[in-house]
Amino acid sequence: MTIDLEALYIDLHRHPELSFQETRTAGVITRHLEELGVEFEEGIGRTGVVGGIRNGEGPVVWLRADMDALPVPEQTGLEYASTARGVDPAGTEVPVMHACGHDMHVAALLGAVERLVATKDEWSGTVVAVFQPAEEYGAGSQAMIADGALDRFPKPDIVLGQHVTPLPAGTIGVRSGTQMAASDGLTVTLLGRGGHGSRPQATIDPVVMAAATVMRLQTVVSRETDPRDVAVVTVGSIHAGLKNNIIPAEAKLELSLRYPDDEARARVLEKVERIVRAEAQASGAEQPPVIAVDHSLPPTINDVHATARLVLAFDAAFGDGTVIDPGMFTGSEDVSWFARESGAPLVFWFWGGADPEAYAAAQAAGTIERDIPTNHSPFFAPVLQPTLGRGVDALVVAAREFLAAPAR
Ligand SMILES: [Zn+2]
Ligand SMILES: [Zn+2]
Repeated sequence: MTIDLEALYIDLHRHPELSFQETRTAGVITRHLEELGVEFEEGIGRTGVVGGIRNGEGPVVWLRADMDALPVPEQTGLEYASTARGVDPAGTEVPVMHACGHDMHVAALLGAVERLVATKDEWSGTVVAVFQPAEEYGAGSQAMIADGALDRFPKPDIVLGQHVTPLPAGTIGVRSGTQMAASDGLTVTLLGRGGHGSRPQATIDPVVMAAATVMRLQTVVSRETDPRDVAVVTVGSIHAGLKNNIIPAEAKLELSLRYPDDEARARVLEKVERIVRAEAQASGAEQPPVIAVDHSLPPTINDVHATARLVLAFDAAFGDGTVIDPGMFTGSEDVSWFARESGAPLVFWFWGGADPEAYAAAQAAGTIERDIPTNHSPFFAPVLQPTLGRGVDALVVAAREFLAAPAR
């Protein structure tokens, strides 16, 4: 019996679940692992599932897929588009969509597990399939590790993972060294003094303070960062006040910061903090602003030797020209905690999900940024094939590259 992977993907796409709520998804996964005769444990890091294929002596290869979806209203127009709703941690009902393609990751990993089980006589070693919750919170891999994922299963000799992305379907993008940026999520609370909207002189207006802060923060990258360096400062959320004639007492900003390494991180954080404090002071704030780091993700660094091996293996399997260097992505991932905590090398690659014809047309017209929806867009929709097939093949090729040949 073989898994109908396309049906599986469509089912997952129709039933997306928010971070740490992936119970139905975990159920789909465990049902298939059971059918494949793969031993597994569930509920690791709340909703995570880990399956292990022990197949004699040899290296331990971890294959990781994340499972969670996002509070995004799907607008792809696909026949299998999600209409799901969920409840976010604040208790708000939100639309839910697999807008980052993690449904594709789960389907591809299950397909790879099936193939590796079916070809056990061709390899030797242990494959650990990690289905991770809550990547979008940057918290799932650490939750699994805190729950003993690295102790309850054979420790990895290498950690491998992949992410679907709007490259042309069929293409694989992987970069030696820093593949994805480090990131920090900050909440900045600016403290003013509230009062009547008609008497601004009696208040310290946190709305104006916030506006000035947001504008000045733009200079961290544009004026204070070497143009050859990568850094991002995004203020993704700004909240203050409830009514036009009340000057509120405080304003909250949520920032997303990105950089390639710890040195750049320290530099950007220092500048952000300086500007936030100085703008508060410029407004005459009576209390300094409160700056909290909500989450912190390390850079995703691909092991140089393992990446070189893998690129050769991909070239041999898929033909020259399949693998490109996509450059460093300013997105961030929590996959590397598995490698960092275990001391194993990591290779994390991207694989294309965009319609190759649409991509070529957009490229010719110079409109890729406008016309090819990216991850987290309500229009993000990987073409089913060859995306799914390539995702399975890439995992199998990669796993086999690092597993041993069978004992004779
Ligand atoms: Zn995402
Ligand atoms: Zn993602």
